[in-house]
Amino acid sequence: MDEIILREYQRQFIEDVRNEFEQHKRVVGVAPCGAGKTIMTGWIIREATQRGKRSIFFVHRHELIRQTSETFDRLGIEHGIIASGVKSQLDLPVQIASVQTLARRLKTVPAPDYLICDECHHILANTYKRIVDAYSDSYLLGVTATPQRMGGINLGDVFTSMVKSLTVDELIALGNLTDFKYFATSSDINLKNVKIKFGEYVNADLAKVMSNQKIIGGIVENYLKYARGKSAICYCVNIKHSKKVAAAFNNAGIIAAHVDGETPSQTRERLVEDFRLGKIKILCNAELFSEGFDVPNMQAVILARPTKSLTLFIQQALRPMRPDLNDPKKVAIIIDHVQNYSRFGLPNAVHAWSLLPNPPKKHASAPVKSCPECGLVVALAQETCPECGYKFVTEEEKEERLKEHTGYGFRLKKEISSSKGREIVHAPRTPEDFLKIAKERKYQIGWVAFRALEHAQSYEDCVHIADVCGYKRGWAWHKWKERQEKLDSRTPFRLRGGEKIRMI
Ligand SMILES: [Zn+2]
Repeated sequence: MDEIILREYQRQFIEDVRNEFEQHKRVVGVAPCGAGKTIMTGWIIREATQRGKRSIFFVHRHELIRQTSETFDRLGIEHGIIASGVKSQLDLPVQIASVQTLARRLKTVPAPDYLICDECHHILANTYKRIVDAYSDSYLLGVTATPQRMGGINLGDVFTSMVKSLTVDELIALGNLTDFKYFATSSDINLKNVKIKFGEYVNADLAKVMSNQKIIGGIVENYLKYARGKSAICYCVNIKHSKKVAAAFNNAGIIAAHVDGETPSQTRERLVEDFRLGKIKILCNAELFSEGFDVPNMQAVILARPTKSLTLFIQQALRPMRPDLNDPKKVAIIIDHVQNYSRFGLPNAVHAWSLLPNPPKKHASAPVKSCPECGLVVALAQETCPECGYKFVTEEEKEERLKEHTGYGFRLKKEISSSKGREIVHAPRTPEDFLKIAKERKYQIGWVAFRALEHAQSYEDCVHIADVCGYKRGWAWHKWKERQEKLDSRTPFRLRGGEKIRMI
């Protein structure tokens, strides 16, 4: 048995859970991946055992049973396993159980004092509910990184109290997780026709969209751009899609393999081992490695499966952030091909978890943006891209400017009439000239656009104005057309000018 020393925050978490159990029978503990959930729950179970109490820790995947069993061994917790094909030892005070097997054996497995549910965001599923209902007198501790269930159903139906551990940023600061860089690719993925059922995209529809060869080609291209040479897990839509992506990597000379739940366990273990050794660079799968499955040396993650599930997003995005003892400066790379960031923000976003039935409504879009130069996703407030130095015009600024622009009619007339004399002196023509004046006289940017447009001779001029003012290309196009119409209606004037309007 190894000596395990708890970190201060882990002690605190255990203490908080203990305190809550004095008032509540059903407590949910929130801790991000990397906080050491299994160690903390194991500790709680060990203490309970020392007080003569019985515990059942239940999980929903066989890999997780093995991993939990290993951690409990390290903690010196003698335990039995309740899973199909494993001889049960029900006399032991601690049991690690598979959800499915336990749900079938509820009549033969005596009620524990403590029931601990791993990944408890699943707890509203039927098998989980049967277990919780059967042991309704037990203390229930659920642990999860994301205490919400897909489809927006609330955990408050089961739990009455919540204990929170550290945030992702706090864990990064402590070195429990590595720092990360999140790149989003400007993707032409169109999810408009993808149906949504139970709060998640329908897989078959997603597969159709994502199997496009161009999109798959982009995945390889962006791996080379952002994570060349790094070991990466690629999360795909389904088995067929995952195989296609693996093939595309192999065709490009990057050794990749596909694994799924059906892959014989021996083959799977060999592939994971080859991945660990760096013989395989990319491991493609469909959700197999999302929850708990250990692949420690991964440096990057490729998100090629759009999701509406925050739980799935966080599980996948946080996977490469496990520290590497051989590489203390490791920075995890996350490549998002599917605009997950636009739905959830960055993986270190702080969420206002709640057990209340109506949690506060989230913002329509996450407060992040992607750098148009290099793709790095940063906070909306960021003015300069830390990766490439690109200067952002923030969305608020753009909006503000657009507002000013649409409202210019009245205000600008006033501004112009009051500034007439000086304009002649400067004889400005270019948007830069007008910007200079605007700055001197504290005019709004809409004024710059308005004045510069009067001098625009071509669509290119309009684009130039848009760039200076921080407007979109669409604005330039619209203004150019508007200007042409104006000029057309004054044909005699145009002819006198001797210039033909040229479309570009
Ligand atoms: Zn950038």
